[in-house]
Amino acid sequence: MKAALYRSKQLFEVTDIPKPEPGAGQVLIKVNRSAVCGTDVHAFMYDLAPSGSVLGHEFAGVISAVGPGVTRWKEDDRVVGGGGKWPVGEEPPTKSHPRYNYRTMGFSANTRTRGYAEYTVLDDWAPLPIPDGVPDEAAALTEPCSVAVHAVRRSSLRLGDTVGVFGAGPIGLLVAQAARAAGAQVIVSEPAPGRSDAAMAVGAMAVIDPFEQDPVERMVELTNGNGPDVVFDCAGLKNTLQQAFDAVRRAGQVVLVAVPWEPLPLLPAEWMAREIDFRSSWGGLPEDWKISLNLLANGKISASALMSDTSIITLDEIQEHFEALMSPTTQLQTVIRM
Ligand SMILES: [Zn+2]
Repeated sequence: MKAALYRSKQLFEVTDIPKPEPGAGQVLIKVNRSAVCGTDVHAFMYDLAPSGSVLGHEFAGVISAVGPGVTRWKEDDRVVGGGGKWPVGEEPPTKSHPRYNYRTMGFSANTRTRGYAEYTVLDDWAPLPIPDGVPDEAAALTEPCSVAVHAVRRSSLRLGDTVGVFGAGPIGLLVAQAARAAGAQVIVSEPAPGRSDAAMAVGAMAVIDPFEQDPVERMVELTNGNGPDVVFDCAGLKNTLQQAFDAVRRAGQVVLVAVPWEPLPLLPAEWMAREIDFRSSWGGLPEDWKISLNLLANGKISASALMSDTSIITLDEIQEHFEALMSPTTQLQTVIRM
């Protein structure tokens, strides 16, 4: 089968590898759509993945074969490649290891063939069924959607709050929609035209171009001089976390959703003096995946708003796309058609 092997720093090789076989209690999934995640771009950029591994954890497909003892799936069932609740004894290390750190331990631990391949194998409890009416492109975004849902559920957001979102890349656009679904009004700061248009399309009450206007001043102005109740940093750039602290209302909350892999300049006294809460959010839990599939099914979250004409690529184009995604980009969500 065709797969994109991660070879070395910033290098994929698209080649043929043996098609995996489902063992007892496992299913073989034929991957139809695989979304490109920023985490994989970081792994590619900073050489975090083991050589010879197949990355990609955001995918939708169908059950192609079941291993011995599997009763919960049959051939052609539509599934997303994750989100199932782990059985007792198979909890992920984030649950079972008191000092587990995904940054230093996460990438080397999982070397099984994943979504940037025609087929992949999962334990039968791991996938979730795709609700009728959710197309594969949208279903492939369940994992990033769960990241957004997780961030909103970890926040102190309450019905009627105003929320600020820095960055309208795929995660920012999903956070904006999840916050709206939770009853918030959303103000977005995003300079790239394609992305700011998408932010308007998903229902932001205002989108600020931070190259034209000071986003802190403007967010404060739009909230009657108070600042948003909760600000999500979905950009993780040098200045956005500090801007999030500066914009949020007194005793409000800043949630860091983007993952800055390099040190950021911050002046703690500045936000301590206004008693701002700080939260981080990492990934999503099984309940966040379920909520995401419901939000995609009932239209509260639109995946198509994250796609443009250039969003769908083939596996052969993966190298050039990852190279392009290493530098700041105006691209929306990229999805690989297998
Ligand atoms: Zn992801």
